[in-house]
Amino acid sequence: MLDPHSPSLVAHRLYDALVIGGGHNGLVTAGYLARAGWSVLVLERRPVVGGACVTEAVFPGYKVSTAAYLVSLLQEKVVRDLELRRYGYHVFPKEPAYFAPFPDGRFLFMYQDLRRTCEEIAKFSRRDAERYPAYEAFVDRLARFVEPLLLQAPPNVPPRSLADWLALARLGRRLLRLRRQELAALSKLMAASVQELLDRWFESEALKVALATDGVIGANAGPATPGTGYVLLHHVMGGVGGVRGLWGFARGGMGAISEALALSAQAHGAEVQTSAEVVRVLVRDGQAHGVALRDGTELQARVVVSNADPKRTFLGLVGREQLPADFADQIEAFKCAGVSFKVNLALGELPSYTALPGAALGPQHRGTTHLCPSLEYLERAWDDAKYGAPSHAPLLELTIPTAYDPDLAPPGKHLLSIFVQYAPYRLREGTWCEHKDRFVQRVIDVLAEYAPNIRSAIEHVHALSPLDLEQEYGMTGGNIFHGELSLDQLFFLRPAAGWARYATPIRNLYLCGSGTHPGGGVTGAPGHNAAREILRAGRRGT
Ligand SMILES: Cc1cc2nc3c(=O)[nH]c(=O)nc-3n(C[C@H](O)[C@H](O)[C@H](O)COP(=O)(O)OP(=O)(O)OC[C@H]3O[C@@H](n4cnc5c(N)ncnc54)[C@H](O)[C@@H]3O)c2cc1C
Repeated sequence: MLDPHSPSLVAHRLYDALVIGGGHNGLVTAGYLARAGWSVLVLERRPVVGGACVTEAVFPGYKVSTAAYLVSLLQEKVVRDLELRRYGYHVFPKEPAYFAPFPDGRFLFMYQDLRRTCEEIAKFSRRDAERYPAYEAFVDRLARFVEPLLLQAPPNVPPRSLADWLALARLGRRLLRLRRQELAALSKLMAASVQELLDRWFESEALKVALATDGVIGANAGPATPGTGYVLLHHVMGGVGGVRGLWGFARGGMGAISEALALSAQAHGAEVQTSAEVVRVLVRDGQAHGVALRDGTELQARVVVSNADPKRTFLGLVGREQLPADFADQIEAFKCAGVSFKVNLALGELPSYTALPGAALGPQHRGTTHLCPSLEYLERAWDDAKYGAPSHAPLLELTIPTAYDPDLAPPGKHLLSIFVQYAPYRLREGTWCEHKDRFVQRVIDVLAEYAPNIRSAIEHVHALSPLDLEQEYGMTGGNIFHGELSLDQLFFLRPAAGWARYATPIRNLYLCGSGTHPGGGVTGAPGHNAAREILRAGRRGT
């Protein structure tokens, strides 16, 4: 656990760096800067660190990963550099990786072992089972190409400095190393819809649904929306225990990752202050020199780093009047309306699926489960959201962390995490305060169609609408990635053309959160890259 006795703030002290926000990326940046000998203070507005990567006691006796729930994308370099295993980081890899029951009584498992997965797929289509290994190899090759870019700062386009030219040259060299077919495949994947991609490979809806959901998680898009191919790729650029694309449960819940990051940073001298909301970045002559807190305290630093999303940082904490107009316009236009909803349930017994009955812990409880019979079902769920209504028949992604980590719940009890789409931030009628309980009931209705015992099993309910994600977790628009992962907001366009290298038009103000390259998810990559750029700029002492 973190030291509950946060340091008392010393207003006259000059820090090397103040980090606004103790989300996992802010903590990663703090960790690297502290290791470089910088004096660092992290200021987090919530009473707990972690942002969306957090464990909270929302039910008595339970430890709930209230927002993010699975780990895979966290960069191994960050884990190693910051010695997170030493501070308690441990992941239980999922096995089986996936289980989906269908209304017709069939079900699909996917395992770490490719042969077993293909045997399962063959129940639905022999042709798909034969093609699946080639699909895995195809995605693996593309992910291997893109993955190293995650830990690089994108070039600014058009280039402004030697570093930009060098980054562009490196990128060009990497592209030239791809075979012609791979270059074409990568370009198509970036622009195509996940449905087009999967239709080219497979015929079985069961398999397509299993794979397509990675393309729409967190996306303001349906499976037929161009650009969702990249979102799919984004979700396979990681792994657990050396298995690409595999996801797992963090021991102690997702907050254990953030706690390990905070402990690692603190061990190198960083201070972490919770319940400390920054209301303003102090700017003089176009240069950041500190922050003001809600209680009126002003703190000074050589460098200010914001883990808050771009809109909150620039339009809220800096102010439009301090920014070049074209930059402010770009931030204004940055798309970050969310579509995701989370339901956390405490259960007296596990779901017993009609397709595979049994409430005793079995393999059907250990994988990620999608309740979504077809791509058409998913597209229709998106159709509702497109016009401002919560999906009448939503996609449900279920996980049961207590299947691996029983310490998260009292003996014999379980946690069920349900990630739901679509729940548009902007509703055509009413507000999320009015819709929230009704939507939770709808989610439970859908679940009960597959697992009829669920209603009597539920002992506690906790839910987060996009409005809650904005108000409680500070994510503007409730967007789980701090901004859409659409092509026009990726790489050198994230968060704004000309400002992709973590620096901002305000001198000595940097960004380190998911609104920067390479985007959202518990990756630690934006935090890592921002720290490297800050250290490179040698701001200390300037
Ligand atoms: C419901 C949900 C489910 C998800 N599931 C997964 C998953 O299973 N796996 C995965 O990899 N990713 C998942 N994600 C995405 C992932 O959790 C986020 O993209 C990632 O955690 C964002 O990290 P961050 O550090 O960039 O920002 P955040 O986690 O948003 O942290 C920013 C921090 O800044 C603080 N802050 C903001 N403004 C101020 C201020 N003015 N003063 C002080 N502090 C401030 C906030 O309180 C917050 O703690 C999920 C997200 C959500 C919401």
